[in-house]
Amino acid sequence: MGDPCDRCEELLQDFLDRTLTDAEWREAEEHLGGCDYCRRRYRFEESLRVYVRTTAVERMPPGLMEKLAQLRTTDPGPASV
Ligand SMILES: [Zn+2]
Repeated sequence: MGDPCDRCEELLQDFLDRTLTDAEWREAEEHLGGCDYCRRRYRFEESLRVYVRTTAVERMPPGLMEKLAQLRTTDPGPASV
């Protein structure tokens, strides 16, 4: 019999990618619910991904974020004037 934590580690990356099947998802959630070690590892991996994502945003060219923000807030207004 294998260590359930080994199985959990196998599932971890797919868990974070949200690409698990329903059965695997339940399996991972169940294990994370009862295992402090894997829960901590999961949180660490998750924060690592958030950090990578944040860093990627910060590395965008300076004008780009502004442009994107403008696009988001621009009100197209009435179609005809
Ligand atoms: Zn575990």
